[in-house]
Amino acid sequence: MAAKRPGRRTGAVTRRCGRGLMTVDDNLSALNSSAAAWGRDPTLVQGAGGNVSIKLDDVMWIKASGTWLADADMQDILVPVAMPASDVPRVKDGYATALRPSIETSVHAALPHRVVVHVHSVDAIAHAVRSDAEAELSQRLSGLAWAFVRYCKPGPTLAAAVRDAHAATSADIFVLANHGLIVAADDVAQADRLLREVVSRLSIAPRLPLAPQGTPSATSIAGFRAVPDPHVISLAVDPTSLAIATGGPLYPDHVVFLGPAPLVVDRYDEINVALADTRRDRASIRWIIVRGSAVLLAHDALRGSDAILRCLADVAARIPPGAPIAPLCAADVDALIDWDAERYRQAMATRSDRPHGAP
Ligand SMILES: [Zn+2]
Repeated sequence: MAAKRPGRRTGAVTRRCGRGLMTVDDNLSALNSSAAAWGRDPTLVQGAGGNVSIKLDDVMWIKASGTWLADADMQDILVPVAMPASDVPRVKDGYATALRPSIETSVHAALPHRVVVHVHSVDAIAHAVRSDAEAELSQRLSGLAWAFVRYCKPGPTLAAAVRDAHAATSADIFVLANHGLIVAADDVAQADRLLREVVSRLSIAPRLPLAPQGTPSATSIAGFRAVPDPHVISLAVDPTSLAIATGGPLYPDHVVFLGPAPLVVDRYDEINVALADTRRDRASIRWIIVRGSAVLLAHDALRGSDAILRCLADVAARIPPGAPIAPLCAADVDALIDWDAERYRQAMATRSDRPHGAP
């Protein structure tokens, strides 16, 4: 349900810009338009990932948890949060909405910039999951005001780290280890330009997907369906991508959507035996890799899991053989799995009222 704004808000002048006065609605419209474009670029945003915000007067409008940036120009995805936002942000008095603010609201509130954009850029992530990330980033982002933020669980802990990084550096670009990218600016157009500049500088040419040898054997089995995307299949075929896919979860959405690890087998006929192994937590197996052959996804996987698998394939294809990878540690993985706010987002992900398919 959309947030209902009191009539006195609509049309209120909030700031001047070069082309005249911008109302609250003008600002929200500009943000929604850009957010939809960012959300429909799978190299920036996958599924319900990423979020945006704009601070106008004493309200911060931020993406609602579980909504998709790709929908921003078709339905209201923004909720108004009272500023200053607390660790448990609340919807601004006088506004009615059934939506809940993004689980990363406190991160947006931690920055003084009017517009904050957070994306899961596959190019940024391909750098940010490496233990040697900072040296490469220093070269690529030379001359820009940027900071590297160590991995923190999304929410108040990450917000504190981003706040500290900004206080120490006055950065408006934040590369989040094992997570993604934040850019912050005074208006939507500036944020869009900055995002494009950073992503361009971080761009890595991906390896082309490798196809399975011989006759394709991609068939579905009970409870799982074969993923047809050749980029995803390459996770099972490309040796470097396979090593990355089986080396441990790399970032929060990887854990939340794909679980702590895939089931890995050498042949299709090993799958049912492996699934029946009582030493495994069957419910935690969201996907299966048949080495050299196929990738299968659970029928009951969360909506958006195909996009998250493609993200992993795109990230892996941008990491060269032998690169030092720093996956999330077991404690970080456990913290993401046992997380109430994330359960709400997952519940939203099971809803089927989204008007169109993948971004
Ligand atoms: Zn994120």
